[in-house]
Amino acid sequence: MGTTVAPQQELGIRTVGHFIDGQFVYDADETFETLNPADNTVIARITKGTQTDLDRAIRAARTAFDVGPWPRMKPAERAKILRTVGDLITARAPEIARIETADTGLPIAQTGGAQIPRAADNFSFFAEMANHMDGAAYHSADYLNYSMQRPAGVAGLITPWNLPFMLTSWKVAPCLASGCTAVVKPASWTPLSNEKLAECIRDAGVPDGVFNIVYGAGETIGMGMVKSPDVQLISFTGETVTGKAIMREGAATMKRYSMELGGKSPIVVFADADYDRALDAAVFGVYSLNGERCTASSRCIVERPIYDRFVADLTSRVNNIRVGNPMDMQTEIGALIHPSHLASVLEYVEIGKREGAKLVAGGGRLPGMEHGNYMRPTLFADVDNRMRIAQEEVFGPVLVVIPFDGEDEAVRIASDVKYGLAGYVWTRDVAKANRVAQGIHCGMVWVNSQNVRDLRTPFGGAKESGIGREGGHYSWEFYCDMKNIAIALGDHHIPKFGMA
Ligand code: NAD
Repeated sequence: MGTTVAPQQELGIRTVGHFIDGQFVYDADETFETLNPADNTVIARITKGTQTDLDRAIRAARTAFDVGPWPRMKPAERAKILRTVGDLITARAPEIARIETADTGLPIAQTGGAQIPRAADNFSFFAEMANHMDGAAYHSADYLNYSMQRPAGVAGLITPWNLPFMLTSWKVAPCLASGCTAVVKPASWTPLSNEKLAECIRDAGVPDGVFNIVYGAGETIGMGMVKSPDVQLISFTGETVTGKAIMREGAATMKRYSMELGGKSPIVVFADADYDRALDAAVFGVYSLNGERCTASSRCIVERPIYDRFVADLTSRVNNIRVGNPMDMQTEIGALIHPSHLASVLEYVEIGKREGAKLVAGGGRLPGMEHGNYMRPTLFADVDNRMRIAQEEVFGPVLVVIPFDGEDEAVRIASDVKYGLAGYVWTRDVAKANRVAQGIHCGMVWVNSQNVRDLRTPFGGAKESGIGREGGHYSWEFYCDMKNIAIALGDHHIPKFGMA
């Protein structure tokens, strides 16, 4: 049974507690460790959730939804509180960025410069959206029908280890804005920044029970939420195989899902593209965020006339990427999340070599930095799209380059993969850009652009990259039930059964 008293800090390593019904809950005897990927030292112990913890969290979220003030508040009042959450994240951004970098190995310039500010933006954006719930009215002579969006209930939010703070905010902000209540199950490799999110949410005045966190294994805590009849919604971000397992289990309690899954997104570079900008985007699109990015442009498909030059320029740029201590502001690639993930990415490098792809940059650990999960950014050229390194999600700083001839082949190669999350197209020909963007089978395409998010637009994938869309009013389709109310305006005919 947990306690709300934090255990004594031992040798500078503290214990992080769940957040249940407005309180941090600890259990010093049941913990797991989280490591700093820069040197694989233990940086905190995390309270390991039990079924009892999960039941308490779900009960708190259920009660907050069924009888609490949150779903019944005026949207403007919810908006005010959520705006404050965003402001508190902004005020604490440097501290949160340091925690996030220590826990994930992501470069501080990228957590502090982009990911934490984006998390704050998610709260301020969805605070405004709370005032824009959709509805419709259908008039006729004797009836008025009106349809309105109502919060659906308790949401189980299951998050991955890449970009934990930003991705959690991407779920929590629309969830709370809609009036739903939440139980978050963070990824076990990156739990730390969740504590800061809980503090910001508590300090902003979100009522107790509306937002809860339970740490622990996916198979127990994550699956426990999926199986619970008191949880209506599961918003899951993670691997496609995990998403499939969740959908199978959730069928028994008729869950509604938002599934943000894996990707193997193409960047198509035509010979008539703005060459320098396309090169910048190709490098940034896969090597930023350590390559641990769902929308990474990890397949670079280049038109034959510029292919050799593009590969040569990619090679020199990749060899120049600064890999190092994630806390150094100059670092462009930090340390991969975990030794076992590093091993998996390095195994893909070996697979690529065995498949006959040409290794032109990187391909191994960073010499002299074996104390952490560092690897050299890696580039394979002359890749055949049927190779495993072109088809499977590596989720690290590894780019494959594939040549193509003509528009049709570009679209065919770009779509010839089981995933369909994002795509990127580079050409100066507007009509061709639109044809190719429309032709690639995926959820989102950026034309002559890196991955820049407009929070109003639908985010999500096709094929095995996911189900559903989140962003703007698309988030309401997940977090809300559309309810129709029909009102008779006069004395319409009612058949009289059972009359004598
Ligand atoms: P993962 O599937 O291993 O884990 C994700 C979460 O699910 C974790 O919290 C984990 O504990 C939990 N989990 C694991 N098994 C579970 C089970 N049986 N039941 C319930 N929950 C379970 O994914 P990961 O390795 O943490 O994250 C990387 C993956 O996430 C990559 O495939 C990446 O592409 C994907 N991703 C997708 C998006 C997107 O928006 N499409 C964004 C970021 C990451």
